[in-house]
Amino acid sequence: MENKKTKHNSSMVATVKRRRNSSTIFLVIFIGLFIAIISQSFMSNNANDAAPVELTFSDVLARSGEIETMKIHEDIATGTLRDGTKYKATISYDPEMLAKIAESGATITIDNSKSMMDGFLTWFPIILGLLFIFWIFRGIRGGVGGIGRSLMNQNPTKITTDKPKTTFKDVAGIDSEKQELMEVVDFLKNKEKFRALGARVPRGVLLAGEPGTGKTLLARAIAGEANVPFFATSGSDFSGIIVGLGVAKIKEIFEMAKRNTPCILFIDEIDAIGQRRNSYAFNDQDREQTLNQLLIEMDGFANDTGIIVIGATNRPDMLDAALLRPGRFDRQVHIDLPDMSGRNEILNLYAKRVKVANDVNLHDLARGTTGFSGADLENLLNEAALHAVRNGRDKIAPIDIEEARDKILMGPRKVRKMRPEDKKLTAYHEAGHAFVSMMYADIIDPIHKATIIPRGRALGMVQHLPIDDKVSMTLAEVRAQLSVSLAGRVSEEVFFGADKITTGAESDIASATRLARYAITTAGLSPRVGLAAVHQSSNFSGHSALENASEKTAELVDDEIRNWLNAAHEDAKKLLVKNRKTVEKLANELLTRETLTGDEIKQIVFGNKKTAKRKKSAKK
Ligand code: ADP
Ligand code: MG
Ligand code: ZN
Repeated sequence: MENKKTKHNSSMVATVKRRRNSSTIFLVIFIGLFIAIISQSFMSNNANDAAPVELTFSDVLARSGEIETMKIHEDIATGTLRDGTKYKATISYDPEMLAKIAESGATITIDNSKSMMDGFLTWFPIILGLLFIFWIFRGIRGGVGGIGRSLMNQNPTKITTDKPKTTFKDVAGIDSEKQELMEVVDFLKNKEKFRALGARVPRGVLLAGEPGTGKTLLARAIAGEANVPFFATSGSDFSGIIVGLGVAKIKEIFEMAKRNTPCILFIDEIDAIGQRRNSYAFNDQDREQTLNQLLIEMDGFANDTGIIVIGATNRPDMLDAALLRPGRFDRQVHIDLPDMSGRNEILNLYAKRVKVANDVNLHDLARGTTGFSGADLENLLNEAALHAVRNGRDKIAPIDIEEARDKILMGPRKVRKMRPEDKKLTAYHEAGHAFVSMMYADIIDPIHKATIIPRGRALGMVQHLPIDDKVSMTLAEVRAQLSVSLAGRVSEEVFFGADKITTGAESDIASATRLARYAITTAGLSPRVGLAAVHQSSNFSGHSALENASEKTAELVDDEIRNWLNAAHEDAKKLLVKNRKTVEKLANELLTRETLTGDEIKQIVFGNKKTAKRKKSAKK
C-alpha cells in the first residue's frame, strides 16, 4: 500500500516537469495524424473494385444461411455470400444475430477500429504518437482509463468466430490427447448431465506443444465435435502499447463469449499475457493487469455456463503459476511431436488429399521424418506435390518425396559450382561415412542414401533411416556412431594427406563432441567419470559450464571426451586404411552418380565375400 502511494507521488512530480514539453508532443501527434490521414486516403483509393450489392438488415437475417463471410465494422457489415456475390449491409450490432449467422457456418470478423487503416505504414505515425502519450501518462493509472477506452476504438480487438466443421477425424496421430479432450466435448454437449451430478467441470484447458503440433487444429476440432461456436484471439494482441487496453480487450472477449454460450474461447499464444511476472520486462505493469483481468474473468463465470477457455502455448514453462491453479487452466494437455506411428497416420491422412503414386512408401517416409511436426508433414506432401507438378507428373513419385524431405531438412539444392577437386574430396568424405556405417550395419541405423549434391550448408551427406523411434542408445551404438561421424574427416586424411584436410567436417565434429559429452556427463556411460551426472548449463554469454562438478571433474570430463573421440578416430582410420580399395570404389561411384541408395552402397561394399569377412574382423 505504502509503496503505491510513493509511486503515485513521484509520477505526479514527473508530469509537472513534463508539462513544459507538451506543446512539442502535441505537434508530433498532430503531424503523425496528418500523415496517417493522407496515407489512409491514398490507400482507400485503390481499395474498392466491384461494387457490392446492398442488403437491408432484414435481408441479412432472412438470408443468414447464404452468408459465407461477414466483416463487421461499426454498423456496416461486408462480405461474400456462398455464391460469391459481395454484399454490404447496415446492421445493428447484436450478438444474438451474430450467433444465428455463425450457426449456419459463416466466418465472422469483428473489426472495432474507427478507421479501416491497416499496415505498418499507416499505423506507424499513430503508434509514434501513442508512444508519446503512453510515455507521458505511464504510471498515472487514474487518468488513463478514459484515454485507454477511446484509444480502444483505434485498436481493433481481433476476434474471429465461426462454427468449425473440423472434427477429431481431421486430427491424426495423437489419440491419447484426443481421448483426454473428448471429456470437454462431452461436457459441452451434455451440460445438463454434468450439472445434475454437480460435477466440477473444466473451465480452462491448456494445450502445450511445439509449433505445428496441431494445437489450433485440436481446439477447432473440440468446437466442431461439440457443435458450438469458436471464438479465437491471440495473446499477442493484448499486449498493447497503451496502458489499460489489454484489460479492456479481455473484458470485451469474455463479454462476447458469455453472450454466446456454450462456446469455445480460444486464446492462442497465451504466454504473451500469462508470462511469469517479473520486474524487468518493458511495460510489465500493463501485462500484469491484463493477466489479472484474465484471471478475474476466468474466476468470474460460474462453472456451468458452458464457456470453455482453451489456451495454447509452446512455452508452458514460462506461464505464471496463477494461471494453472484450479478453476483456471486446470486441465493441461501436452502435445508431443508425433512418434513414428503418429507420423504414419498423419501422412496417410494428408496423402488422401493429394495424388500419390503406388510406389511411394509412406511408412518409410514416417521413419525418415523424426522430429517433424504435423504441420511439417503436411508441408512436406505439399512440397512434393509442387515438385511433381513442376516435373510434369500427375502423381507424387518417390523422387518428389525425397526432394521435398531434403529441402525441408537441409534447405534447397544449391546450384553451386564446385571445383572438381572439391567435388572429389566431398565424394571421399561421404564415402568414408558410408563405409564405416556399413561396417556397423547391425548396430546403428541403416543408410538411406549418400549424396554429394550440395544442399543448404552441407556439401554432401549420408542419411540414415531409423527402423524405429529410438529412446536410448547402447554404449556400442554410441561408439559406433562416433566412428561414423568422424569417418568423413578420416577419409580426407587417409586419401588426401594430413595437410589437405578441410573445414567441411565442422558439423560432424560438433555432433560427435555433443554425443560424447552427453554420454559421459549425463548418461553415465564412462567408467572414469562414473555415474555422477555433471550437468551442462549455458549461461547468458553462451558459454557452457559444468554444474555440480569440481574443477578436477571438469578436467577429467574434457580429457575423457578427447579420449573417446580419439578412439573413434583411430577406429575409423583402421577400417578405412584396411579397405582402401572399397572406399575408393564407393567414392568413384558417388562422383559419377552423385547419389547412392543404401542398397547400392551395400552392393558395392559387400559385393564380394572378401569384404564380408573383413567386416567380421573389423568389429572386434
Ligand atoms: P499449432 O497451433 O500447434 O502451431 P496448428 O494446429 O496450427 O499447430 O497446425 C498447423 C497445421 O498442421 C494444421 O492446420 C494441420 O493442417 C496440420 N497438423 C498439425 N498437426 C496435425 C495432426 N496431428 N493431424 C493432422 N494435421 C495436423
Ligand atoms: Mg496455432
Ligand atoms: Zn561429414
